[in-house]
Amino acid sequence: MDHFALKNGILHAEDVPLPSIADAVGTPVYVYSRATLERHAKVFREALEPLGTGDKKPLIAFAVKSNPNLAVLKVLQRQGFGADVVSGGELTRALAAGMAPEDIVFSGVGKTRAELELGLDKNIGQFNIESTEEGRELAEIAAARGIEACAVLRVNPDVDAKTHEKISTGKAENKFGVPLMRAREVFAELAELDGLNLRGIAIHIGSQLLDLEPLETAFAKVGELVADLRKAGHSITHVDLGGGLGVPYKAGENPPSPADYGAMVAAATKGWDVRLTFEPGRVIAGNAGVLLTRVVRVKRGGNGPPFVIVDAAMNDLARPALYGAWHDFEAVEPTGERMTANIVGPICETGDTFAKDRDCDSVASGELAVFRTAGAYGATMASSYNSRGFVAEVMVDGDQFAVVADRIAASAIMDAERVPDFLT
Ligand SMILES: *Cc1c(COP(=O)(O)O)cnc(C)c1O
Repeated sequence: MDHFALKNGILHAEDVPLPSIADAVGTPVYVYSRATLERHAKVFREALEPLGTGDKKPLIAFAVKSNPNLAVLKVLQRQGFGADVVSGGELTRALAAGMAPEDIVFSGVGKTRAELELGLDKNIGQFNIESTEEGRELAEIAAARGIEACAVLRVNPDVDAKTHEKISTGKAENKFGVPLMRAREVFAELAELDGLNLRGIAIHIGSQLLDLEPLETAFAKVGELVADLRKAGHSITHVDLGGGLGVPYKAGENPPSPADYGAMVAAATKGWDVRLTFEPGRVIAGNAGVLLTRVVRVKRGGNGPPFVIVDAAMNDLARPALYGAWHDFEAVEPTGERMTANIVGPICETGDTFAKDRDCDSVASGELAVFRTAGAYGATMASSYNSRGFVAEVMVDGDQFAVVADRIAASAIMDAERVPDFLT
């Protein structure tokens, strides 16, 4: 459920008509709904919180990479969320949004020494270690400081998440985590090290999962591993189950609800006696945002349907070009008429195509439209390709809205460039 709906024939974000945002801020612009973010956070929390109380109360760590905007992080911080970060930049954002250091987990295969040090400087709650090499390095840095870094070992369960290959992370050939087969031996080695408090296991098998079955299979493998590690004398107090729950991008897609997911997790983790961490991203932010765009012109097609050329492009919303992803396209003031169109951006690449042969609302030059479900992996993946600026972001709250990220003009990006003396 989201808060983008037609009122008097005009698409609104909560109580704000989208044309008023386009007038004030220009297009393209991402528009987020605070009420939708809060609703998703609450539903997710209510589905997972019953899994433990006291020091076993689950930690819900929002995957910052899905939408790192400070205002978005602030909304989630106020909902009691922590953060799952994958870079020093994201760590800095989570702290800036007021997230408690102990509620921050640091994931990622390529944390640099400087990033490991930053995590220790800031006293974050947990490092999710992805290799023996990383574990040794973190242990060495922490030991030199006379402290212990809290960590869990990310394992790769070799489970097919049945999602797009570029967002599958839990197959043996993927770069993430330590192969399950070697996990016992790696855990034993790292657990011995001074400077490391290795206290559990993490997994994350992929994103946009529309079926619980791969997660269930992976969790069962983690359950066995936890039992084995305990048998070997290790103390296992924490398990991080990652994120990955999908959202409906398209009519007919029916991802499991947070309640279904919660029930599955409850069954799968029964008797584990650990503190669970979750790292949801898309399921919180996806439907809480749209990309508002204006039609530049409608161009007659060759043999096929017309090209609807919009002022948003693959540099603003990369998912269609990157993953062939679907985003619903809707007119802001639909007439009820339909058309079949190729919806494209202005960038000089054929990949700058949002939809082919799409049955959609009829739109004409100058009219406003949205790409739906753009709140996750949208603005965060933006670039300035074709010397386009960085897209602006707005948050709506009831009948008010605020710019939460300025548009960064192409000229400002150019201002950061220099022609060296040897060329003048
Ligand atoms: C990307 C990522 C997530 C979030 O995935 P969603 O599908 O957005 O829920 C969680 N954990 C890790 C380690 C990730 O890389």
